[in-house]
Amino acid sequence: KKITIAIDGYSSCGKSTMAKNLAREIGYIYIDSGAMYRAVTLYSLQKGFFTEKGIETEALKAAMPDIHISFRLNPETQRPMTFLNGTNVEEAIRSMEVSSHVSPVAALGFVREALVKQQQEMGKAKGIVMDGRDIGTVVFPDAELKIFVTASAAIRAQRRYDELRSKGQEASYEKILENVEERDRIDQTREVSPLRQADDAILLDNSHMSIAEQKQWLTEKFQA
Ligand code: C5P
Repeated sequence: KKITIAIDGYSSCGKSTMAKNLAREIGYIYIDSGAMYRAVTLYSLQKGFFTEKGIETEALKAAMPDIHISFRLNPETQRPMTFLNGTNVEEAIRSMEVSSHVSPVAALGFVREALVKQQQEMGKAKGIVMDGRDIGTVVFPDAELKIFVTASAAIRAQRRYDELRSKGQEASYEKILENVEERDRIDQTREVSPLRQADDAILLDNSHMSIAEQKQWLTEKFQA
């Protein structure tokens, strides 16, 4: 019987790599819920909803029905690609600009309400691995397997830095560390569904684990 697997945790803790690897191994569908918050943020940046005073929430609220997010697998790499209103935005949503604007967008109740509804719809398929911040607490409180991933902020920033550099992108370790800590702070203190470990989630601190070790650990939890 196929189950629902919820993987939550802090920014850049490697949960999406773990989730993706597990989904591929066991033939489940992988959904990156963070990509959806990032897509809404990219849309808001494109439309100029960010002003000196902050986000124009009324404009974004009115635009929500026009924001259509979907996922497709890249036929060559089998990696998931995020589409915003028909355009492949997989790369654009990973920019530093989006990273530094996403947490305030994700703190808006009407944004969460709309995206959680879509995520729950996707979850009806069963055989799903979803990663995010509120998957085990809000999106799928009945998920059969819940994992909460953490690692020190310095290690998470270093991994993100290495990842960007390996893709040939310019990156500043200091800026990344600042962004990781700032997102954690906003995600943990927002009023609507703050980031926290579900009571029934298994904690994983992967600070000193290789990707292979994390994969092994997660596979064992799945088989248990
Ligand atoms: O997972 P990722 O780092 O790409 O997520 C980007 C941001 O989206 C997070 O920092 C958080 O503010 C928000 N997010 C969220 N709830 C989720 C997934 C992501 O609030 N389920």
